[in-house]
Amino acid sequence: MTPSFFCDKVFLLMIQVKYKYSLRWDLIWMYRNMKNMQWLTEKRIVVFKPSFFKMVKLWFKMPVGPEIETDFPITCYWLSAGTWGSYIPPDKIFICPRGLKDVARVINHEITHIKHEKEVQGMSHEEKESYINKVK
Ligand SMILES: [Zn+2]
Repeated sequence: MTPSFFCDKVFLLMIQVKYKYSLRWDLIWMYRNMKNMQWLTEKRIVVFKPSFFKMVKLWFKMPVGPEIETDFPITCYWLSAGTWGSYIPPDKIFICPRGLKDVARVINHEITHIKHEKEVQGMSHEEKESYINKVK
C-alpha cells in the first residue's frame, strides 16, 4: 500500500490489485459459462472450454499479474477456462490468461466495469461495452 497523493484534505490510498487462484471460483465460472454458452456464442465472446490439463498447468505455473494500482481493493482470480475477463462488483475480477497477450488491458477494462457499474444499469451488453470503452 503506497500513499499516493494529497488532494485538498482528502488523502487517497492507492492499493495494488491482488492476484489469487481459487478452485471454487474456477469451478463457479465453468458452470456459469456452460449455462450461458448460447448467449456468449451469440455475442461472439471468446470462451475457453474447461480442460483438466489446463487447470493443472495453471496451478503449477501461476501467472505473475501486472502491477496495477486502484483506489479501492480489487482481487483478480485466475481462471483456467472461460472468457478472458469478467467481474463481480464490488471487488472481484476474473481473468483466463489463455492466449491473452495484454493482461493489463483486460484487467483495467474489468476494473472500469466495476467503477461504472451503477451508470450502466439497464443497458444492453453492447451499450455497456461501448460506454465502458469510452469512459476509461
Ligand atoms: Zn467489458
